[in-house]
Amino acid sequence: MTSSNDKGAQQASGRPSRGAIKAVRGTRDLLPDETPLWNRVEAVARAVFARYGFGEIRTPVFEATELFARGVGEETDIVSKEMFTWEDRARAASEKAQSLTLRPESTAGVVRAYIEHKMGETGALQKLYYIGPQFRRERPQRGRYRQFWQIGAEVIGPTSSGAESPVRDAEVLEMLSTLLDELGVRGWRLELNSVGNAEDRALYNMALREALAPVKDKLCPDNQRRAETNPLRVLDSKDEQDQEIINGLPKIADYLSEESREHFAQVRAALDACGVDYHVNPRLVRGLDYYTRTTFEFTVQTGLGTQNALLGGGRYDGLSEMLGGPKAPGIGFAIGEDRLILVLQEQAKQDAEAAGAAPGEPKLDGYVAPLGAAQNAPALALARALRREGLSVEVGDGAFKLRKSFDIADKVARAIVLLGEDEVASGVMTVKMFATGEQVKVPRAELGGRLRAR
Ligand code: AMP
Repeated sequence: MTSSNDKGAQQASGRPSRGAIKAVRGTRDLLPDETPLWNRVEAVARAVFARYGFGEIRTPVFEATELFARGVGEETDIVSKEMFTWEDRARAASEKAQSLTLRPESTAGVVRAYIEHKMGETGALQKLYYIGPQFRRERPQRGRYRQFWQIGAEVIGPTSSGAESPVRDAEVLEMLSTLLDELGVRGWRLELNSVGNAEDRALYNMALREALAPVKDKLCPDNQRRAETNPLRVLDSKDEQDQEIINGLPKIADYLSEESREHFAQVRAALDACGVDYHVNPRLVRGLDYYTRTTFEFTVQTGLGTQNALLGGGRYDGLSEMLGGPKAPGIGFAIGEDRLILVLQEQAKQDAEAAGAAPGEPKLDGYVAPLGAAQNAPALALARALRREGLSVEVGDGAFKLRKSFDIADKVARAIVLLGEDEVASGVMTVKMFATGEQVKVPRAELGGRLRAR
């Protein structure tokens, strides 16, 4: 086979040889040594979501730019500087040119789908989950990528479905604690806050602007800009020198209406009843404009360094209306799957170090080694039959020396099945189990059972 980056092919084509093409900055390949963990995480998430009555939704990876401008907010970092946006040309007279964007998050798309498919008209609460890639042009670092994955869920419906109830907030948070526990994530911490309803936020914004006006010149340029455009975002800032000023700013808790205060109290009471630990963090306002009332983040200390937010979410009671839909209060979250995997890998490494062993690689049930070219075809037929019996099997090559077959088999499988002329003729195989070093003759009919035995 000749590949396009084959040297010979390039010379033959007369084109100068150029450097190998690499994955784009901020994107990465997940190779087979990592994907089993990704698949396990997704399988556990799907199983937990199913137990809580969630169904899967798959929305497009790109949407009209306006969806994010309206939903996430023009003044947010995501919309103002991180989106991958392009002008899509019309290809036919029946089409219009339009601005499209690779989704930077999925809540806006899910709520668009909720409106578009009139899901609210059933009157029932909708519980939807998704797993998929998101795109943001951020400065790449460990735990921060330009294509990253999120596992998220949304609970949304008309007010009559109970979508606004604090029970829903507590249930989502309690589910997340169950999910993280089932995945084996240790040392997670739930930070919780309420940013109030739209009116509370407007009042608080005014108070923030007033408090920021006399000290604005002392802030870093980014925070000076935020103080003008979106003062709430100043609270999110990690800028070291600005912390003293930020800590002295008014607290949202003092601007909550009686109703918002009561809602938050009920969320906390339900969490207490479930025995889920949380910490109220008055500075947790989160980056997106659509949040109202409950906001939250789960953080972990291991494996993530400064990017220690594993997941975030909150309530968005006005989002559907912002997108031109009916009133549909909702609450949701998005887990950073890349970060979750980093944490699990780091914790597995710590466990292995504590136990004094390398994390074990899963091995195949058997490796079928043909002893000569004439046994290649029978070896493939035997491997096919064993695989159909449900065994995981690799098949070698009759051109390999016996030593080489043993070396490969020992790395990938728990047993080697030798297939020479005699074995093919008699139907009795020679099998060596690597764990014990035991070598035995096994009739074909018993081979599956023998390889399966641990
Ligand atoms: P957000 O949609 O900004 O609320 O983010 C929710 C979660 O997604 C965060 O807590 C992170 O775990 C993850 N996340 C956000 N941005 C990135 C990124 N650029 N790379 C990797 N994970 C991210």
